[in-house]
Amino acid sequence: MQVIRLPALSHNYIFLLWDNIRSIAAVIDPAVAQPVLAKLHELNAELVAIFNTHHHSDHVGGNHELIREFPNLIVYAGAEDKGRIPGQKVFLHEGDRVTFGSSTGEVLFVPGHTRAHIAYYFPEMTTDEGGELFCGDTLFAGGCGRLFEGTPAQMVDSLSKIRALPDNTRVWCAHEYTLKNLQFALSVDGDNEVLKNRYTEVRSSRNMGEATVPSMLGIEKSTNPFLRWDIPALQIAAKSSDKQSLTPRAYHIQTFARLRGMRDQF
Ligand code: ZN
Ligand code: FE
Repeated sequence: MQVIRLPALSHNYIFLLWDNIRSIAAVIDPAVAQPVLAKLHELNAELVAIFNTHHHSDHVGGNHELIREFPNLIVYAGAEDKGRIPGQKVFLHEGDRVTFGSSTGEVLFVPGHTRAHIAYYFPEMTTDEGGELFCGDTLFAGGCGRLFEGTPAQMVDSLSKIRALPDNTRVWCAHEYTLKNLQFALSVDGDNEVLKNRYTEVRSSRNMGEATVPSMLGIEKSTNPFLRWDIPALQIAAKSSDKQSLTPRAYHIQTFARLRGMRDQF
């Protein structure tokens, strides 16, 4: 089983799961159909599933055309997205399981970017250590998705679920926003040596035209400001000043909300 990253539109990534023994594939968030069809042709694989994370057009734009080419494929998405996902057949909730070939993935309900967003976590899908997380626009490398339909409290809960996964989880997020995200991260967490080193690495990768996705969850935990609402440096940068009067949870949510607001203006 392999994950194949396909660039699409200006900065999207589509991910193909490929089972070369069974000659089948599944796709996460096909923004468009064409690069998926081209790769399936090259692999001589049949597409058996679409796994959508949320309803935005840069994540479901290829659904119709792929269904036309592979009428038996099954479209999976969140139950709360009913009516917004072209061709949806399976309506998923937190804790549900999905299978592809011999792999089983677990569904995380992660509202915030949208009210229905889900993520798919496949523990140890490949032979290496670590699992694969397909998190759409919830967590990005160095950042997180904008809050279009959800609240800061929901997003903190969603990102907390992701933060609880093992450090060696690969984070397959749907956009190449890493460099800009880390520029913002440095503006609020500039004394973080791990972050400074990461920024230098990402800048040279991007200069060479290389993708920065997947990233590892461990480095996200130590450098991504949107997983660090409980770190004093970020709380100070967020000017989240009501520590005395708020519960710890409310204070964390306030810190996250202010950081997200600052990133919106960055
Ligand atoms: Zn989106
Ligand atoms: Fe998106």
